[in-house]
Parts: sequence; structure tokens; C-alpha cells
Amino acid sequence: MSDTLLADANLRLEKALRDVTISQDAIERLTHPKASLSIAIPVRMDDGSLRVFPGYRVRYDDSRGPTKGGVRFHPNVSIDEVQSLAFWMTFKCAVLNLPFGGAKGGVTVNPKALSKLELERLSRGYVDAIADFIGTDVDILAPDVYTNAMIMGWMMDEYSIIRRQFSPGVVTGKPIAMGGSLGRETATAMGAFFVIQSVWAQQTRSPGETSIAIQGFGNAGAILADLLFHAGYKIVAVSDSQGGIYAKQGLDIPSVRHLKESSRKLKAVYCEDSVCSSVDHQVITNADLLALDVDILIPAALENQITAENADRIQANHIFEVANGPIASSADTTLEAKNIQVFPDILVNAGGVTVSYFEWVQNRSGFYWTLEDVNDRLQTKMVEETAKIQRSPKNSPSPSELPRMFTP
Ligand code: GLU
Repeated sequence: MSDTLLADANLRLEKALRDVTISQDAIERLTHPKASLSIAIPVRMDDGSLRVFPGYRVRYDDSRGPTKGGVRFHPNVSIDEVQSLAFWMTFKCAVLNLPFGGAKGGVTVNPKALSKLELERLSRGYVDAIADFIGTDVDILAPDVYTNAMIMGWMMDEYSIIRRQFSPGVVTGKPIAMGGSLGRETATAMGAFFVIQSVWAQQTRSPGETSIAIQGFGNAGAILADLLFHAGYKIVAVSDSQGGIYAKQGLDIPSVRHLKESSRKLKAVYCEDSVCSSVDHQVITNADLLALDVDILIPAALENQITAENADRIQANHIFEVANGPIASSADTTLEAKNIQVFPDILVNAGGVTVSYFEWVQNRSGFYWTLEDVNDRLQTKMVEETAKIQRSPKNSPSPSELPRMFTP
């Protein structure tokens, strides 16, 4: 892998650009983030002490519209990570033809070690520090790893206090009562489900004969596991940061979700009460899960899970990237040589930002859609864009389909 995540992302860009006609000026421009902000967020802790957390917001490119992207709370957040995620948001919004550029934000913190009030002060402090950098028509926030609707609600409220006007369009993924959209919570999983279904409709293998392993059992991974399970696919393995479980005959996903939700850890599934023992399973590590002999592998956790080190152990013949950047570019050559088909994150997990776009449209018009409307529109968009990508020669857009973002 290259020295930084952003350099790694640029390697991929270089490779993709070989298949399209694009001016050197546009390439040069896309190699650098438009604006990066580093901040220090002071937070009064419950014990009276003051702690300062490093935070970032990066607006990568706004040629197609206001920038859009989530905010991540995680101990590994760095400016490099946020820049590369903002880079990928730029391409994700373009692939889905949304009128947005790409952005990302983050705070270097372990949110699980904070109380709810400390988390609220941190969320509001983050917005205080970046308020001049964002806006409904400038840069729009959303949830990402370890941030959720409650946090988005605090962020929108803080921005509205600063601007002295209700500003729902500056943050998406909000609680419904604060202008959130129906279907946003399930959108990433739902979008990935539509992509997998359209790809799998062209296979001779039925869902019942298709084995799937899913790494990551958070918002995206768990809901997607549920959707696939109910569509008849055989989910043989799931995992979270603590480890995973495997059952050759398939796991009963609703029971696994129930246990995980009641304990917040997949480890609870290892217990021996009636629900757990209803399906025989084996305890495995995350590394074991990635190497399982399955039809479909779904990395839905964090970036850089498949690298040059473990790419030769991958046995699945299809990978759908639900996390952002789970495959490092260093793994590409090995996966290609093994003829493994990779469906990239900028398509597969784009359901989240697509429904964020719907939420922003609803906030601006003040007219709110039914859940059916949201899911129908999401399905149309995901199926259309999947078909376009599969249709194009060499699986890349033809010059005539090139997004307009390439104008410098
Ligand atoms: N954080 C999500 C992503 O990486 C959603 C972004 C958004 O809704 O703006 O795609």
C-alpha cells in the first residue's frame, strides 16, 4: 500500500482514468482536496475536567454542487483518512449522478468511552468549530461510523442556534421529528441489497444456493444481513469487531440480530440458551471470515481489510464493498488474477447518500415523502446505475457518460 490513504485513493484514480478521455487539468485538480479544516474541540467532561479532541472537515470537490459527506467518530480518525474518504464521496455522488460534490468529517475519539452528555457536548462543539465551513448550499453533514440520527439532531440544532434560523438542510440522517427522511436509517443496506439483487438476477445460482459472509454487524451489515436472509440467501458467517460466527447450513439472522441488539455485542450469540443453540455455529475470527469459501463476501466494517497480505487467501468469487474502502489498492492485482469480481463501495454503499439527497430535497421543499416513495426512488436509482456500470465496455463509463465533475 502507498504511504497515505489519499495516495492510495489517487492510485485507483490514475488506473480508472486510463479508460476515459479526460483533460490533464481535470486530473490535476482531482488529485488535491479543495479545502481541509483541522480543529481542536474543547469538551467539558462530566467530572469537571476539560478534554480537547482533534477534528476535521474536508470539502474535496464542489464542481457538481454543494459538498456532501458523513462525520465519523472513531479513535483512528486522521486528516489523511478524512481526506481520502472525502475523495471517495466525490466519486460516489458522481456515480449516482447526485447534484453534490464530496466531503467528509471526523473526530479522533472513542465515543463508547463518553457519557451521553459528553457526546452531545462533543457533537455541538464540532459544529461550533466548523459552522463557517458548512451550510445547506455549501457542505452538508450526515452520519458515518459511530455517529447516528441522535448525533445528527444535535448537530442540526447547534447549527440552527448559531444561524438563528431552523436549518434542517445542513445535516441529513436526522431524527424524523427534526426533518429526517423515512428510510434513511436503512438506506445503505437497502441500496446494497438492490445492487446485489440486480447483479444476482443474471446468475444461474438461486439465492438459496448462494452462500454469503458478512464482515461487520453495524447499521449497514446487520440490516443487509436481514434483507438478504429474508430474500432467501444463505448467510453462513457474520462478525463484529470482537469476532465472528460461522454455520455452514446458514445462520438464523433475526435471532442473531435480536441477541446482538440486546447485548450490543455479537459475543452474546456465543451463549448457550435456547435461541443461540437453535443454530449450530462455530466461533471464528475476522481474518477467518474473509478467507471463507463462499459465493459472496461482503466487507461492511472499516477500510483496508483486504490488503496485499491476505488477498491470496480470499476464496469468494464476488465481493460487494459495503464499507468505505475495505480493499486496499495493493490487493487489486491479486484479486484480478484470481478473477474475483469486485463491486465497489462508490456504487454498493451509495444508498445512504442517495436517501440523504432525498432528505435534503424534502427539507428544501418542505414536502415529505412516504416510506414507499423513498424506497421506490432508491430502488430505481440503484438498479439504473448498476445496469449502466455493467453495460459499459470494460465496466467503465464511456466518455459520453462522463460526469460533468471533470470540468476544471
Ligand atoms: N457516510 C455515508 C457514506 O459514506 C453517508 C454520507 C451521506 O449521507 O452524506 O456514504
